Amino acid sequence: MLYLGCHLSASGGNLEMVKTAQSIGANTFAFFTRNPRGSQARKEDPEDSRQAVQALKDGGFGPLVAHGAYTMNLCTAQPDAREFACSVLCDDLRRMAALPGNFYNFHPGSHVGQGMETGISQIAEALKKALAPGYPVTVLLETMAGKGSEVGGKFEELKAIIDAVGSDDVGVCLDTCHVHDAGYDIVNDLDGVLAEFDRVVGLSRLKALHINDSKNPFGSHKDRHELLGQGNLGLSAFAKVINHPYLKTLPMILETPNALPGYAEEIALLRSLEA
Ligand code: FE
Ligand code: FE
Ligand code: ZN
Repeated sequence: MLYLGCHLSASGGNLEMVKTAQSIGANTFAFFTRNPRGSQARKEDPEDSRQAVQALKDGGFGPLVAHGAYTMNLCTAQPDAREFACSVLCDDLRRMAALPGNFYNFHPGSHVGQGMETGISQIAEALKKALAPGYPVTVLLETMAGKGSEVGGKFEELKAIIDAVGSDDVGVCLDTCHVHDAGYDIVNDLDGVLAEFDRVVGLSRLKALHINDSKNPFGSHKDRHELLGQGNLGLSAFAKVINHPYLKTLPMILETPNALPGYAEEIALLRSLEA
């Protein structure tokens, strides 16, 4: 049984997301821990979370993959802004304790001219601080397209962050659109890309997938998601991804340009491709 889902609006609370997921055939989902383009967080509701945890268990859900705000840049150049981003990360991880045992994925950051090495060490410092209290969450670094000064377009950059943090609670979420745009050929050589990931990072760190087609050609470093089968990856690539022995047990999250009915269709489509 594949764990498939999509991004859901968190505005109605955690239990409502579980119900919405079930209504579209999903058995995992992603949600923004706060306004994706701002920093406003939702009011906490322990009773809602308790009911959601029970509903997830009863529904046989796979691990959830929460998503940090896009605006949270842990390696921005201004110390105040960096401090603020770090406090947002700390607060997000603390909040994840209401839904224990799930994943928190985020974009590692953009070094904005400070250089890759500085970016990597600033991200690692923030993670060390935020993970220190030992909340029941595994943090996932998302593979990026390598746009501008983005950190995480190369597996080596993710590995450097993981090594610098030195915690078992850090993994990777592989975004199919991003790795394709970054120049990893998952369309023609998925096994080769996974072998490379294993050599550099270690496959045991790979915990979740973002399933997106790409509007742009291989190696474009662009990051524009497309509906499954309508971009440069194509449906046969997704059939290989979801059936791959190393990947088929991981939670798979759609981030395609869709509303709920479209997500329901794509989830059904992926389930029909299961071997
Ligand atoms: Fe993302
Ligand atoms: Fe993604
Ligand atoms: Zn993207």
